[in-house]
Amino acid sequence: MKLNTIAVLGGGPGGLYAARLLKRSHPDADVTVYEQGKPDTTFGFGVGLASRTQRNLRAADAASLDGIVAASRAHEMSMRVGDAEVRLAHGELLAIGRATLLSVLQTYAREAGVNLRFGERHCVADLDGADLIVAADGISSATRTALADDFGPEIIEGDGLYLWCGTDFALPRAVFTPVTTEHGTFVAHAYPYADDRSTFLIETDEQTWRRAGFDVSTKETPNGESDQVSLDYLQEAFADALGGHHLIGNRTKWTRFRTIRCRSWHTGNVVLLGDAAHTAHYSIGSGTKLAMEDAIALDESILAAGDLDEGLTAYEAKRRPAVEHLQAIAERSMAWWDAFPERLSLPVEQLMVAYMTRAGKVTVERFAESAPQVANPGLSAFAGVPTADVPSPAAVTEWILDQPLVFGEHRFACRTAPDALRTTAGTTLVDVSVRPWSDEATALINDLPSAAVYWLTGSDEREVTLDRLDVGERIRRASGAIVVAEVPSGFRADAAGALASERVDLVAFTG
Ligand SMILES: Cc1cc2nc3c(=O)[nH]c(=O)nc-3n(C[C@H](O)[C@H](O)[C@H](O)COP(=O)(O)OP(=O)(O)OC[C@H]3O[C@@H](n4cnc5c(N)ncnc54)[C@H](O)[C@@H]3O)c2cc1C
Repeated sequence: MKLNTIAVLGGGPGGLYAARLLKRSHPDADVTVYEQGKPDTTFGFGVGLASRTQRNLRAADAASLDGIVAASRAHEMSMRVGDAEVRLAHGELLAIGRATLLSVLQTYAREAGVNLRFGERHCVADLDGADLIVAADGISSATRTALADDFGPEIIEGDGLYLWCGTDFALPRAVFTPVTTEHGTFVAHAYPYADDRSTFLIETDEQTWRRAGFDVSTKETPNGESDQVSLDYLQEAFADALGGHHLIGNRTKWTRFRTIRCRSWHTGNVVLLGDAAHTAHYSIGSGTKLAMEDAIALDESILAAGDLDEGLTAYEAKRRPAVEHLQAIAERSMAWWDAFPERLSLPVEQLMVAYMTRAGKVTVERFAESAPQVANPGLSAFAGVPTADVPSPAAVTEWILDQPLVFGEHRFACRTAPDALRTTAGTTLVDVSVRPWSDEATALINDLPSAAVYWLTGSDEREVTLDRLDVGERIRRASGAIVVAEVPSGFRADAAGALASERVDLVAFTG
């Protein structure tokens, strides 16, 4: 297929990377990136890049990946609650300043022959003469809005609020750490990305945000400026983690995360890419990866197709399953973080088990294999036994299920609920068919009759099962009663993860 002109709207990672790949595949085409900002000014601080990204990027374009890795910084991970800290030697985590990443990608785009035009804000109508318009214009995509009838966007705002800021030193490692002030709990996700910089992303719930007066400071901060009132407050609250350093803003304001989904990603010669098409909560650190992987799929699909429509259809078909899978994980992760302050009574190692298994992506077994020094103390805290009694990773799933439970006067020999408990007086059956973080779930929990045991039933699809386990955690916390969740027998690992993380007390296998 011959493409003479390709217009890329947006010089973020998705747009720049797509422009380079497309120019290499269509050397005769005029490929231009239109970016409204200036080359050296951008929003945000460092972003995390996971290792899988690197494998995919290496296969597509090893040179630009080498450039990105050379400008990145590797870090380990840790979680710190009060004085207790656990460290996770990960070996795969990288972070890079957003401005640095863009500068590397600009260099490689230019090297391939792409024209970069900065300070130019355009809309699709301006670019009508192009054979292909790649709309990589970010989460607030004007293209998506202008062509909303074709793209069918759905935008869901998260409950919590976050503030993206930085600090002027390199933390020794990434850290998740909560701080509780008189107004409530704030949680920092922080990691180093340069010798003199770390990202500090801070979250809180709406009530805490209001009690601290940040609804007012948010309203009073003009667009394009940083909310200095919040930065000063948080700098004091996180003084320990900051070691006396400052929090730095860059158009930093409290925001609610927006999850974007679109019914379609292409119409005519216009195609959405990256955040314009879909977003996934930052706690899984995948937005950049998704945008760049979109670019790879777009380039490959167009190259293999007979005409543009076939290429764009193939791109969407190729990317949708992976994107939707990550969005499901991200949604669960976002909800887990929203409820994080409620888990602070767990020992930090057990909290780490809960964190790793929060989205149904990592099993306890896999976590125990990769980080026994953290997983084993976490599991020993769950079972109330010495760490030495925790078995090898291959045996942990069954070991967790075999642990006894003493709950008030109730004694259970293992974590599989006896059938008779389902029909015992005092047990209430609850059919769970709601998303765990939805208003419907809140209503369901508020309307539950009081009971000694809640036995959760529902359909046996995996996502619904994970939802049931997450709703179980909310019921467990709200009621203080014993919570049993039905789990299809094929999902023993999910059951073990939920038990070890104290989402539910017992499980009942079905099917
Ligand atoms: C708080 C936070 C933390 C994050 N942390 C991570 C992380 O750790 N790891 C990770 O991988 N991802 C992270 N992300 C997500 C990541 O930043 C995005 O997913 C990624 O930047 C998407 O790339 P993109 O190219 O699609 O869009 P963007 O990076 O948003 O780029 C869009 C570009 O288009 C330009 N533009 C918009 N409209 C126009 C127009 N009309 N004309 C010209 N130019 C226009 C904008 O100026 C912008 O430069 C985070 C996001 C947030 C909000």
